[in-house]
Parts: sequence; C-alpha cells; structure tokens
Amino acid sequence: MLDQSNHLPTEELQAIDAAHHMHPFTDGNALQKKGVRIIKSANGVFLKDSEGEELLDAMAGLWCVNIGYGRPELAEAAARQMRELPYYNTFFQSTHVPALTLAQRIADLAPGDLNHVFFASGGSDANDTNIRLARHYWAAKDKPAKQIIISRHNAYHGSSMGSASLGGMKPMHKQGGLPIADIVHIGQPDWWSEGERLSFEDFGLLRARELQACIEQYGEERIAAFIAEPVQGAGGVIIPPQSYWPEIRKICEAHEILLIADEVICGFGRTGNWFGSQTVDIQPDIMTIAKGLSSGYIPIGGSVVSDEVASVVAAGGEFNHGYTYSGHPVSSAVALENLRIIEEEGLVAKVKNETGPYLKQKWSAFAEHPLVGEANACGMMGSMVLTPDKDARAKFPGEAGKVGAICREHCYANNLVMRAVGDRMIISPPLVISVPEIDLLVERAGKALDATYQQLKIEGML
Ligand SMILES: *Cc1c(COP(=O)(O)O)cnc(C)c1O
Repeated sequence: MLDQSNHLPTEELQAIDAAHHMHPFTDGNALQKKGVRIIKSANGVFLKDSEGEELLDAMAGLWCVNIGYGRPELAEAAARQMRELPYYNTFFQSTHVPALTLAQRIADLAPGDLNHVFFASGGSDANDTNIRLARHYWAAKDKPAKQIIISRHNAYHGSSMGSASLGGMKPMHKQGGLPIADIVHIGQPDWWSEGERLSFEDFGLLRARELQACIEQYGEERIAAFIAEPVQGAGGVIIPPQSYWPEIRKICEAHEILLIADEVICGFGRTGNWFGSQTVDIQPDIMTIAKGLSSGYIPIGGSVVSDEVASVVAAGGEFNHGYTYSGHPVSSAVALENLRIIEEEGLVAKVKNETGPYLKQKWSAFAEHPLVGEANACGMMGSMVLTPDKDARAKFPGEAGKVGAICREHCYANNLVMRAVGDRMIISPPLVISVPEIDLLVERAGKALDATYQQLKIEGML
C-alpha cells in the first residue's frame, strides 16, 4: 500500500494529502491551493522530491538531522532493538538496557552534575515535565509558593499547553487560551529589531537585567525558574550579544531560582560544543533535549537534571508524572547509535574548528548584499535579516514575513531549503555538511537573494 501510493503521480498524492492530512503550523486552505511539496528520499544533506528535484536541506529537517540523512547504522540499531525488545515501559519499577545506557551516556556528555535523565518523546513534553519538575522541586523543599517560571518573548519551547505557554510567541498564545498561570515573559536579546540606539553589547546587558527586574517585581519567594534557549532557534536564530549570558548567569547565581537551558536545538553539537550551555558558559540545573539526540530518526526527548534537583525530587515521594514512551527502547537504541556516530566522526569538533568558522565567514559576507542587514552565524546556525534600508534597520512596509516568503520561494527555485521567520532567513544545516556543500549552500542562497532583490525592485517595494 505504502509502496504503491509512493509511486502515484505528484498531483494525486497532493490531492490525498489535501483531503486527509492536517499539517502543523500551516494555513490549510492556502496550502491546498498551492499543493504540498512531497519529499521522497534523502541522503547526506540532500532531499529528493516527487518531481525528482534534489534540494540542499539547509535546515536539517527541523533543526534535527545532525548526522545527515541515509545512515544505515541507525536503521540497523532500530531493527535489532525491535527484534529483541520492541517496547517495555519504565514505570512500575522496571527498566531496560537501552534506556539506562542512554541515560548514562547523556550524563557523561552533559556539563557539570547534570547526571539524571527523565525521558520524553520530544521537546514539548520534556518542557512540560520541566514545569512540573521545577514546581514540584520547590514544593518538596517546603517552598510551594515558588511557582512562577520566567521565560522570554519570542522564545520557542514547544507546542503543548505548557511548553507553548513557556514560549513567547503571541500568535500561539492567541489560540487555545495561553499562557497557563504563573508563566511570565521578559524581553529577548534581539538587537536588530529592538536595540534602537543602544550598542549591541549595551543592549545585551539591558535585556539580561530585565531578569533581575522581573525577579524583584514578583518576589524571589515566588519564582521557581528561568528558562531560555542558549541561542534562540525558531524565533529567528537570535545570536545574543557577548554581554548577555554572563549577566544572566550572575543574576541566577545571586538568587534562589533554577536555570533551565532549552537545548533542543543547541544540544548535540549544533553550536560547536556538545551543548549550547558550554558555548555561552552557563551551568543549568535542568536541560531540555530532543531533536539532535536521535538526529530526528526517531522521536525522543528528555530533561537532564542536576544531582541536587534529582535528589530533592527523589526524597519528595512519588513524582506523579510520566509518558508511555518515556525511555522507549527503540528510540533509546537509535539515540545511542546517533551519539556514537557524532562522537566517532568528531562532528562537534568539526563544527567548532572547521565548518563552523568557515560558514560564519561566508555567511557574514551576506551583510554586504543590498538587501541584507545583520548576517551572523554560530556553529551550524545562521540568520540574516532582509531590510529595505540597513542603516536605518528599517522594516518592509506592510505585513512582516511577506518578503521572507518571497525569498524562501526563490530558495526553493534554486533547490535550497532555507526557512523564513518574518523577514529573517535562517539556516541550520546537518553537522556533516562539508566545505564544498557549504559553498553550494552559499551560492544558492546568493542567487535567491539576487532574485528576491530584482523582484522587489520590479514590484516597487524597494
Ligand atoms: C523544537 C523545539 C521544541 C519542541 O520540540 P518538539 O519535539 O517539537 O516537541 C522545544 N524547544 C526548542 C528550543 C525547540 O526548538
């Protein structure tokens, strides 16, 4: 059945999809009119669609395919584990070898005393775990009033009720009655959009000090935790000023609050260290992990927890929380194989010393393009802002995202998958991307930018 439908013509597959398949973060009617893109297979950093086009995937799927597509080792690991033990739970005082081995492996890799893993199926549910864990931790320490979690505007922490409340995306809050109680948001370190006349570094300090002000406003005795992505991903790859994280660290150390680093994108090599926390030099109490943990080959996520938090929670009686697929044996086996490959192929060091600096140099040069303002990269994450007037850091008139969408279409026309967040173009390629493949990425992105520039000129938008 699957094989047959896989060989139907594109239009027929599109019609079936339109009739029955609801897509995440998608305007269903608009997609139906346009026709969905059908990806059929993939290898390395390239996707193949149903029309036979080969696209360079500069997004690694959704920030997750760190080791690239088409690795038979992961398929073998899944098949082996499915034959031996396809499923068992980790609830009622039982465990299995893949889950405990993966927990140990993650503890080895994670910075400091982050030695304990609570597994989930992805990043959203792991962040829901974190909300309950942080609040339960303080209750177990006899401080039940510490309930408030501070997050940031334009953060992305997932799509469930809890994690989307942690997130700071207004259009998400508008649907479904979010945020839930006791979650508050401070400003993000996005200098290009919000820094006005301040210098880059002064603005970083200003935004970090909003955490201090927020703690004072609500009272330390009511704050459970602060959560942030080391480098914001879905918000537009916002690379913070150097001044930002040291100040946040200072504020967290001066107060009795937990620091939660959402490493769902930054983790497992993306910023040139195993974790983004190491890149920005912080020691969190809890880390959220998912995506790159399995390179997206299979769903898995988790919360990595410090000795102190784990011991308080363990002493607090039963933690009434868990998922059917917490520590799923097949997911764990695949994740272990993925981590083996990242380590044995030296992918983290490759990003740090070789491909990361190379991408940064090439990518930053886009700032010279007439359409581009800020262009920056950190490891295998990059972002550039499209602007009609870079000196004024101006926005395009009308709806934000219109020009980004035009540019994204020109990327597709040049067989490049690059994502638009408003009028920012962002990339997050697989960590295995080679120097010649980075050259190809940059060449195609340049062509797409030129085409976008020409179209805007013709349409009188410049
Ligand atoms: C993708 C993402 C999540 C949500 O993960 P899912 O697996 O989609 O539930 C959470 N946090 C960050 C930083 C993410 O990028």
